[in-house]
Amino acid sequence: MSQELSGPGDPTLVEGSLRLDIGPEGVPVWAAPEEELVFEVVIDLGLLGGAGVGSVTLGSTVERYVPGLAVPLEPDEPVLWAGTLGSAAEGRYLGYDLDHTLSTRFNPQAWPALIHRDVQAGSENRRREVMLGTRDGVTLSTYRFDGHCAGCERREHFVEPTLPWRDDFHCKKCKRAGHRLWREVRKREVPPGSMDMLTAVWVARAFVREGGRSCGFTMVDKYRLWNVTLLRGDTRAIETPAGTFESTEVLLRSEVPEGEEEREFAGLFGIRGELHIWVHAATGVPVVIRGRVPVGGLFDLGVRVQLEAARGTPAAFAPVDD
Ligand SMILES: [Zn+2]
Ligand SMILES: [Zn+2]
Repeated sequence: MSQELSGPGDPTLVEGSLRLDIGPEGVPVWAAPEEELVFEVVIDLGLLGGAGVGSVTLGSTVERYVPGLAVPLEPDEPVLWAGTLGSAAEGRYLGYDLDHTLSTRFNPQAWPALIHRDVQAGSENRRREVMLGTRDGVTLSTYRFDGHCAGCERREHFVEPTLPWRDDFHCKKCKRAGHRLWREVRKREVPPGSMDMLTAVWVARAFVREGGRSCGFTMVDKYRLWNVTLLRGDTRAIETPAGTFESTEVLLRSEVPEGEEEREFAGLFGIRGELHIWVHAATGVPVVIRGRVPVGGLFDLGVRVQLEAARGTPAAFAPVDD
């Protein structure tokens, strides 16, 4: 089995961190080997103040890439690196559900160069997967999701009847992960440099670090595309439970590409519309993420995701002195 290598987009290890040339030109994404940022999620209740409703942990890891167990590693083969970005959100408030794990894996190969997984637990167990990369020089994305089996012959999907004289029958709907099957994969061509929602947060970090004013790229959400623009805002001291940080605001604006179906943007942590990310000006570490979330299907509330604790961050990441 031969493996097509992608070349310029391959993750490269520089001083322990993984450099990913995925997004806009001149804005390389950096994945730290063991970074963990813990955020508190607060819902803005106006005159009533704020309510802590959960937590979000953002992190990254870097690991040696082993290209499949069937392929023996030759001693003189170059060491390849892979990296993973992750987000684990937990919590609940009225109809606002945060039980969501996102991960994006970067591989040193053309296909899939990136695997984005979205797993929802809690009231519903749902898995979604987006892959991105190139095949025969064409940039592609695939999307698949799982759902409850609609009826098959597999005995493990059958349940016992509640009435003893009835036959057992195929389960109709349940929360058992084993009863869920992947649906058919959908594939489409996407612009080169397209990325998932989680990676976009790391691009916002890189964008401030590199001193950009604005930049744009294509984001893939499930089977759909968004034109994302990052705009640099003010720089000022931002208070968080982890301290006060000199931070720059990045506005993440998403628009439906021409010729695609209109819809509202639903982003990270269920945030709709625009996403405001405050990142530490010197290092790009995110300290506050703000936006609006629909609650109970009736109205929107402001949500503020604010840094509580950090480890594995760049050395220059520190609060301002009082
Ligand atoms: Zn079945
Ligand atoms: Zn079932």
